[in-house]
Amino acid sequence: MDFLPLYFDLKNASTLVVGGDEAAARKVELLLKAGADVKLCAAAPIKSIQRLIDDEKVTLIADTFEARLLESVVLVVAATGDSETDDSIASVATARNLPVNVVNKAKNSSFIFPSIIDRSPVIAAVSSSGSLPVLTRLLRSRLESAIPSSFGRLAEVAAKYRDQVRDKFPDINQRRRFWEHHLEGLFAEKIFSGHEEESQAVIESSLRNGDFEPGGEVYLVGAGPGDPDLLTFKALRLMRQADIVLYDRLVSQPILDLVRADAERVDVGKERANHTLPQQQINELLVTLAKQGKRVLRLKGGDPFIFGRGGEEIDRLSDAGVPFQVVPGITAASGCSSYAGIPLTHRDFSQSVRFITGHLKDDTCNLPWSDYVQENQTLVFYMGLVGLSIICEQLMAHGMSSDMPIALVSKGTTREQQVVTGTLSTMPDMVKAKSVKAPTLIIIGEVVSLRGKLRWLD
Ligand code: SAH
Repeated sequence: MDFLPLYFDLKNASTLVVGGDEAAARKVELLLKAGADVKLCAAAPIKSIQRLIDDEKVTLIADTFEARLLESVVLVVAATGDSETDDSIASVATARNLPVNVVNKAKNSSFIFPSIIDRSPVIAAVSSSGSLPVLTRLLRSRLESAIPSSFGRLAEVAAKYRDQVRDKFPDINQRRRFWEHHLEGLFAEKIFSGHEEESQAVIESSLRNGDFEPGGEVYLVGAGPGDPDLLTFKALRLMRQADIVLYDRLVSQPILDLVRADAERVDVGKERANHTLPQQQINELLVTLAKQGKRVLRLKGGDPFIFGRGGEEIDRLSDAGVPFQVVPGITAASGCSSYAGIPLTHRDFSQSVRFITGHLKDDTCNLPWSDYVQENQTLVFYMGLVGLSIICEQLMAHGMSSDMPIALVSKGTTREQQVVTGTLSTMPDMVKAKSVKAPTLIIIGEVVSLRGKLRWLD
């Protein structure tokens, strides 16, 4: 081990940074974050540093380095960018037994700055001992995405209960199990979703009763339109901790592959008019599984609250007193329009966008057509393939130009995405001639014509 990671308390400690460019600025910021008293030696500091000097957050003590500047400091950073100057600062500091960092030169440094994942009070530090900083940054970004932003808050809230937990569970093994249960369970989830009062109720009741039976919960998660890279961090985290997953036909295989490997998988289907499980049974199953103490992942295509019947599911869950959280996903309209190069709004062509379902409850397609025929508006039809001819006919019958551009996006955002563009009058026949694969989304409006300008996306 070339460097031992240590965490220093630098509050009010006098530190010196020599240099005034970007590299120096980054170290200054870090030292300020740690509460240090930062002194600066620089001839021409960049704007961001000058602002800190003007605000009296940093004290400019000299423009050129001299050994006397080290007299009252406990730590030095050499960041002049000139390697000879930096090295001589390092040797003067070392002669005085002062810890010194030469920016980007681990071999002349007695300490180095790691990449930091700051979830204060929880702080993770990653370093490649100066050998390959890019690798460190990659590792850091993986950790950043895996650790919820309110992880630090979890530590703070949990710390308040440490004494009570110690009194209640004198046995260390029991105590460890208690914490493992709560730090990975409902208590933690309540904090991550911003419900601190509820999180405290969870831990307090567990302390009162002396038990920590697994408490079930339902995660209603939007999986986006297909490309796994469009998942949110939160979706991925919950997918990795669920005990069982109930998924829809729309959820793509690469996304399912990201669910915890040993989680039970239940296909609840939902092909048009061929529901593997009727909605009511899905609702009941969610309740039953959660009441068995399971962490149930309800994984849905796109966004759960956009034509996803998420509302009905949470209605039943809240009636049954089952805790749940809803994680938004990228809806098909956003995903398909981006990946097909069709902006849904545009200052010149469209000031509003309407999401419409082409599949009504009673299996008809009776829609308020004249409302849809308006200038400068984009229409997006979900579940519209079956009714495509009717949609085009009705819009024209209600006054929309037969030349209005229309796009059909099939399997949007996946590797098999296909886009067919035409006009209201040509599209129905174009689609009949092709075998278009579900799911498909229809976009109608002037914005579709912009696709020609955005060909690089193909
Ligand atoms: N909750 C989902 C929509 C469910 S309704 C969401 O927010 O996206 C199902 C319809 O969504 C499909 O009939 C289709 O119109 C559309 N859809 C979903 N994923 C799609 C995709 N990858 N490509 C094209 N359309 C898609």
